[in-house]
Amino acid sequence: MAPVIIAGGGIGGLVLALMLHRRGIACQVLEAAPSVRPLGVGINILPHAVRELADLDLLDALDTISIRTRTLTYMTQRGQTIWQEPRGCYAGHAVPQISAHRGRLQSLLWQTAQARLGAGAVRADARVIGAAQDAASVTVAVRTAGGETGAVTGDTLIGADGIHSTLRAALLGDDRLVRWNGIQMWRGAVDWPAFGSGDEMIIAGDATAKLVFYPIAPGSEPDRRLTNWVVYARIADAGTPPPGRESWSARGAFAEFAPLIEGFALPMVDIPALAGVTADIFRYPMCDRDPLPVWTQGRITLLGDAAHSMYPVGSNGASQAILDARCLADCLAAQDGPTALAQYEAERRPATTAIVHSNRIGGPERVIDLIAARAPAGFGRLDTIATQEELAAIVRGYANLAGFAAPPAAITIDAPR
Ligand SMILES: Cc1cc2nc3c(=O)[nH]c(=O)nc-3n(C[C@H](O)[C@H](O)[C@H](O)COP(=O)(O)OP(=O)(O)OC[C@H]3O[C@@H](n4cnc5c(N)ncnc54)[C@H](O)[C@@H]3O)c2cc1C
Repeated sequence: MAPVIIAGGGIGGLVLALMLHRRGIACQVLEAAPSVRPLGVGINILPHAVRELADLDLLDALDTISIRTRTLTYMTQRGQTIWQEPRGCYAGHAVPQISAHRGRLQSLLWQTAQARLGAGAVRADARVIGAAQDAASVTVAVRTAGGETGAVTGDTLIGADGIHSTLRAALLGDDRLVRWNGIQMWRGAVDWPAFGSGDEMIIAGDATAKLVFYPIAPGSEPDRRLTNWVVYARIADAGTPPPGRESWSARGAFAEFAPLIEGFALPMVDIPALAGVTADIFRYPMCDRDPLPVWTQGRITLLGDAAHSMYPVGSNGASQAILDARCLADCLAAQDGPTALAQYEAERRPATTAIVHSNRIGGPERVIDLIAARAPAGFGRLDTIATQEELAAIVRGYANLAGFAAPPAAITIDAPR
């Protein structure tokens, strides 16, 4: 009997497995996908979560597949700088902010978990379809893609099974808490000439459409990078039912958003050209879930997107899953199963609920909306439109809330004009 069963071998589930292994606690990861393939596009891991990966001795391996982000710049659609700040080590953190291909990151964690825990502890093609618990144990029903069923028994069960969590539905009823804010995202990654110092992240836009782009890995030549981009825009009123079930793999097409990016004029990238040559474009409605009133029932709890799916602003979803894992691993190392899960929820549910709410009102990207509302045609001097204090309150306020604020003395910002 494995002390801990983890449903879902995504970012959160695999990091939890590695952390439990470090603490001498055996676990069994059950992943639904028949094989782990490098799915997804760009993802950011913020310094407070990278610190946890560094503690797992993963930093060198991460450096081979990712980019250490140097700066984040918020801009208008026409390329005027609103706010720029150093990130990660460049902001005084002991570890970097990491921009990576989500699938390559998952593959790295998967292979590391297999090597450290043993291949049998990390099972693909094992979809969790239900669970039952009694006073002494929890039994998990599992099904393969071919329809074979089986059961795994353990001390506790962690639902790290993502946005459409089977265990969340089992604990709390149907998955009816989904909220779409009416914004559609189109995403892709493509080999592209490096811009700036080759490690910068840009978020630009106006009240209608926004664009996020950043390099996530070395490219085919030294002066090229695998460059992640996201275009997002409101296409429906907030509260409208989402256009289909959220899927990370749903295909989109350039023609669907080409008119939305016509007005962008950024000095460092020709975004229609970048998006236009991207072979695989994905479409994703910006959905979250209402914060859950409870994550834990006895020996079963939730972690990561299963517990707190949030709008993807502020680059925080994966980082919060990793912080969940750290907290849960510590609790499980110190207490018996049900007590540990309750203590984990008491710590992490309020913290992540606050982030879900903050992301609903726009997260740090709100600085773009503020300037767009006050100076839709651009500005001469930024300080006649908004004070540095106003902008800092939004950007640094979010960093404080989400727990990745840089050490104050380390931040040096030349107010852009
Ligand atoms: C295919 C895919 C592509 C993604 N692409 C991006 C991206 O490009 N950018 C981005 O910011 N975020 C992306 N995400 C989401 C991102 O990984 C998460 O928001 C974040 O890392 C939190 O991690 P998590 O472990 O909670 O969830 P996830 O990383 O989503 O992992 C959940 C895992 O659970 C598995 N699973 C689901 N149901 C079951 C079940 N019943 N039994 C067993 N296993 C199950 C899934 O296959 C998945 O591997 C993607 C997620 C997936 C699954």
